[in-house]
Amino acid sequence: MRLLGCLTALSVAVGGGAAAAIAPKDSLVSCLRSTLSPEGSVYLPGDSGFANDTIRWNRYHAPTFSVVGAAANEHDVRASITCAMSSGTPFLITGPRHGFSLGWETLKDGLEIYTGAFHHVNVDVEASTMTIGGAASMKDVSDALQLVGKNIPVGGSSCVGMVGASLGGGIGRLQGLYGLMHDSMLSARLMLPNTTVVEVSECSHPELFWGLRGAGFNFGFVLNATYRVYDAPAGGTNFNADFEFPMSSVRAFYQALHDQIEIGMPAPLCLSTALQFNHAINATTLKVNAVYAGPEDEGRRAVEFLADLGTDLRHNFTQVPWNRLNRNVDFLNNNPLVDVCNPGGIRGDTYGVAVNTIDVDAHVSVSEQFDDMMAKYPEMRSSGNGGYFCANQAVVARPKHHTAYPWRQAVGYQTFGFVYGANTTTTEADIDNLPTKLRDTIAATAGTQGGLNVYVGFSHGNEPATAIWSEANLPRLRALKREYDPKGLFNWYHPIPLE
Ligand SMILES: Cc1cc2nc3c(=O)[nH]c(=O)nc-3n(C[C@H](O)[C@H](O)[C@H](O)COP(=O)(O)OP(=O)(O)OC[C@H]3O[C@@H](n4cnc5c(N)ncnc54)[C@H](O)[C@@H]3O)c2cc1C
Repeated sequence: MRLLGCLTALSVAVGGGAAAAIAPKDSLVSCLRSTLSPEGSVYLPGDSGFANDTIRWNRYHAPTFSVVGAAANEHDVRASITCAMSSGTPFLITGPRHGFSLGWETLKDGLEIYTGAFHHVNVDVEASTMTIGGAASMKDVSDALQLVGKNIPVGGSSCVGMVGASLGGGIGRLQGLYGLMHDSMLSARLMLPNTTVVEVSECSHPELFWGLRGAGFNFGFVLNATYRVYDAPAGGTNFNADFEFPMSSVRAFYQALHDQIEIGMPAPLCLSTALQFNHAINATTLKVNAVYAGPEDEGRRAVEFLADLGTDLRHNFTQVPWNRLNRNVDFLNNNPLVDVCNPGGIRGDTYGVAVNTIDVDAHVSVSEQFDDMMAKYPEMRSSGNGGYFCANQAVVARPKHHTAYPWRQAVGYQTFGFVYGANTTTTEADIDNLPTKLRDTIAATAGTQGGLNVYVGFSHGNEPATAIWSEANLPRLRALKREYDPKGLFNWYHPIPLE
């Protein structure tokens, strides 16, 4: 009955005379109001809830919305897609809104289908599995698993969507032991663009399951997904080591990192780096965090190659519950604000490169140019040049084309977050096109075949399709896109190009 009401409104809007015409937005709103479940909501600009549900971690190149449909359940997601279609409104289904892609700004005055209600985490301890909602965050997952002595690879930000990250790959701590986040995904309940729901797994729609794990945001909305989870190493307490190095130690650090990767990082070890401006000492420094998912004595041995540099400005070694790591890394000292998930609305450009080797000269050159930028453009001092260098034994243990994630051989990921001042109109061109130049410097020496390799979750959005999806995977992904999203309804975030 409710759907019928919606379609009736459309027929008036499309075919009605001047007096009876209903604007598309009115048609959309009336459709949503008449078809969403009692638990669902509709927000318009100015309503309490609208700003909160639409703000993104990065507001640069962000889409704009004139209506939010807050979906409470599967029915509401379907109803929202149907209403968007019937009113001719572009729509985006959002998770925790940490994604970034150039081109999103072309979605104007659309419908945001907000899925914050899909944040449940149900753990089956005996079976070592968990089923999570499509918008559950890393924090939701970590807290639920820590309670029962389990864990799974998660990323370095508590507020990123677990499914959102998994659909691209999912880089993070514990990947040396268990692989990419999506390597632990066993199945997903997927609402296709035509609103039918399918269960996908190795046994059911296996080709779609392959593509979902690598290009997943192209084929519909994952309502929930089931993952394998693991007994937490060392009782769920990790060894956490933080170092802060001056610029003068950057070469020694990258040489040590290069050598350590050549020797082989222990599987439980994950390093992350952050080249940032330290306002307390008025200088750019390199913070290096190392997390070891194992006993403290092993962890201490694993980070000796960093301690041996002997030039850190400070260091700090702690034992941290696994679900509290993000509050503690980089000298954060158990800062609870890290886990408060209101996307901040920064204005910046992000770029990334996957690397198969560490070219010391390139990393030093990029670090120095980044430091020069801080001096020349003080308004850029909230920027960060970050790296993820986690052990990858369990990532490369899977066959190369096990999932649609193409860069399993990567030993690390260099990311760049160029944060322009909040109230400025600064763009990449105003800082000498440094973002692209630095990305290209690392890419040219990354030891990757065929040039630039980019993890889609860290990409900018203007890379060649082969740099994100790979030459080998594109034909399969194109075939899936043609079959499951022929109208391109899920084309706003890193769409698979059909040509
Ligand atoms: C601060 C920060 C830290 C990060 N750290 C890591 C990290 O450690 N490891 C890592 O791998 N990545 C990391 N990322 C990248 C992150 O994985 C991607 O940005 C990812 O797209 C974010 O997902 P989201 O659901 O939070 O974002 P959203 O912006 O809500 O979603 C991004 C896209 O994915 C789609 N999407 C989200 N959920 C679903 C779903 N359930 N079904 C279908 N489509 C969906 C949305 O429709 C949208 O098109 C980080 C990003 C940021 C900003």
